Amino acid sequence: MSKHGSAAPLVTPVSVLVTLLATLIIMGITSTSWEFLFQEQVLARFGLSLGNPTDSVARWRFIITAVAFATLSQIGPALLLFRAMRRLDKARIAVIKAREEADALARHDPLTGLANRRILRETLKRRLSAAPTTGQNTALLLIDIDRFRQVNDLHGHSMGDLVLVEVANRIKATLPSDTVTARLGGEDFVAVLPRPTSIETLGKLAHQVILRVSAPYQMNGLDARLGATVGIAVSPDNGTDEGELMRSAEAALYRAKANPGTYRFFEHAMDRELKQAHRLQRDLHAAIASGAIVPFYQPLIRLNDGKVAGFEVLARWNHPVRGHISPEAFIPVAEEAGLIGQLTTLILRQACLDASKWPAHLKIAVNLSPVQLKDVSLPDQIYRTLRAAGFPTQRLEIEITESGLVNDVSTAKSILTNFRTSGIDVALDDFGTGYSSLQNLRSFPVTKLKIDKSFVRAMNTDPQSKSLVIGILAMSRSLGIATTAEGIEEASEGAWLQSIGCDFGQGYCYAKPMRGDEVPDFLGARAA
Ligand code: C2E
Ligand code: CA
Ligand code: CA
Repeated sequence: MSKHGSAAPLVTPVSVLVTLLATLIIMGITSTSWEFLFQEQVLARFGLSLGNPTDSVARWRFIITAVAFATLSQIGPALLLFRAMRRLDKARIAVIKAREEADALARHDPLTGLANRRILRETLKRRLSAAPTTGQNTALLLIDIDRFRQVNDLHGHSMGDLVLVEVANRIKATLPSDTVTARLGGEDFVAVLPRPTSIETLGKLAHQVILRVSAPYQMNGLDARLGATVGIAVSPDNGTDEGELMRSAEAALYRAKANPGTYRFFEHAMDRELKQAHRLQRDLHAAIASGAIVPFYQPLIRLNDGKVAGFEVLARWNHPVRGHISPEAFIPVAEEAGLIGQLTTLILRQACLDASKWPAHLKIAVNLSPVQLKDVSLPDQIYRTLRAAGFPTQRLEIEITESGLVNDVSTAKSILTNFRTSGIDVALDDFGTGYSSLQNLRSFPVTKLKIDKSFVRAMNTDPQSKSLVIGILAMSRSLGIATTAEGIEEASEGAWLQSIGCDFGQGYCYAKPMRGDEVPDFLGARAA
C-alpha cells in the first residue's frame, strides 16, 4: 500500500450486496424482536391489545412480508447510492494515482526511468555524510555520450529517445546493483557507487561502460554507433561534499573529452584548468558581443606571376588582461560554447566591410569549423551577412578541414554544394594532416587544396615530406583541383613549388597576417 492510501476501489457490487444483506438481517432481527418480545408490552402500556396474541404463523407472515417489502424498497435507493459512491471512489483513486505519478516524476527521469538530478544529489549527500560512520567512500562516474546529437539530427527526436533508453539500460546493466544511476537531462549520465577498494576496478568499470555504450544500436531500421567518455572522481580524495565531488568529475570529463571514448580520473591540476577554461568562455562571450575579436589578413599569392589573389581571414583576439590569444586557443573554446557561429558572422561581416575597399578581383578566404558543417542553416547565415554588407558571393572562399567532412557526410555535402552553386570556392585546409582520403576529393565539391604548412616547412630537410608535397600536387592536377602551399617562409621554397605546379602560396615570406587598415599599403608596395 502506498503512503497516499489504497488505490483499490472501496465500492464494489459485493460491498453493496453485503450492505443489503446486513440491512436484511437487522430488519429481520428488529421485526422478530418486535413481534415476539416488545409488541405486547408496548401496546399494553397504551391500553391496546392484540387480536390473537398466540397466532405465531400470522406473526411470521408479517415479519417476512415487512422484511421483503422493506428490502424491495431499498433496491432503488441502493443502486443510486452505489452509483454515486462509485463515482466518488473513482475520483479518490484518480487523486491517489496522480499523486503517486507526480512523486515518481519528481524522483525519476520520465524517459529512461533512471533517477533524476534531485535523487542523485540526495543519494550523494546521504552516502557522503554517512561515510565517517560506515567507512564506505563513494565513487562518481560522469558519462558523456558521444555522437548522440547526430542520431537526433538525422533520425529525429523519437528515435533519439529510443536510443537514450537503450543507452540507459546498457549503463545500468554494466554497473553493480548498488549503483544509483541518474540522467541529468540531454545525454549526460551519472553513476554513484560505493568506492571499490582498488582504483583499477573503477577504471575497469568505466572501460566496460564505454565498451557497452559503443556497441552498435540496431533498432527500428536504425544502425548507429555512439561512444562514451567518462570522468571519474572519488571521495574523500576529490571532494567530501556532493558539489565538490561533482565538480571534480566534471573537470575529469572535460579532460577526457580531448580523447573521446576514454575515461579519466580527476587530478588536482584539472581543477585549475577547468576554471581557466570557464573564465575564457565567459570572456569570449563578452569579446564577441563587444566586437573585440577582429579579422587579420594574410595574402594569398599567385605563384606564376607573384600577384596577390586574395587574403585569408584569420581571427585575432586582443584580451584586455591576457594580451594576444591565439585562435588555436580560443576557436576550440568558441566551438565548445556554441559561439562559433556568432564568431564567424562577426569576422565575416568585418572582413566584407574591409574588403569592399580593396580592388574587386581580390577574394577573401574564411575558415569554418568542422562543427559548423553539421548545421544546415549555415549557408543562409553566410548569405545574410554577405547581403547586408553588399558583398558578392563570388569573392568569398571558404576553408574547411577534412574532419568536418567525416562526421555527418550528407549534411556537409549539401552545405558545400549549396556554397558551390552560389559561386563560392571551397578549399580543403591542412591537407595531409587528417584523413586525406582521395574519396573526400572525389565526392565533395572541393575546388582547392591547401597543403599543410608542416610539410612545406619540413620539405627541405625531410625527403618524405618532399615526396608528399610532390604527390599531392600531381594528384590535384589530375583531378583539376587548384593548390595552395601554406607556410612558405623562404622565396626559394615558393620558386620550387611553382616549378612543380603549385598554383598559390601563403606564408611569412610574402607577409604575416596584418590588420585591415594595413592592406592598402601592402598592396601598393607589392604593385610597385
Ligand atoms: P590555418 O587555417 O591553417 O591558418 C594558417 C595559420 O598559419 C595561421 O595561424 C597563420 O598565421 C599561420 N601562418 C601563416 N604563414 C605562416 C608561415 O609562413 N609560417 C608559419 N609557421 N605559420 C604561418 P593563426 O592565425 O594562428 O591561425 C591558426 C588557426 O586557427 C588557423 O589555421 C585556423 O585553423 C584557425 N582559425 C583562425 N581564424 C579562424 C576563424 O575565423 N574561424 C575558424 N573556424 N578558425 C580560425
Ligand atoms: Ca585556413
Ligand atoms: Ca591551414
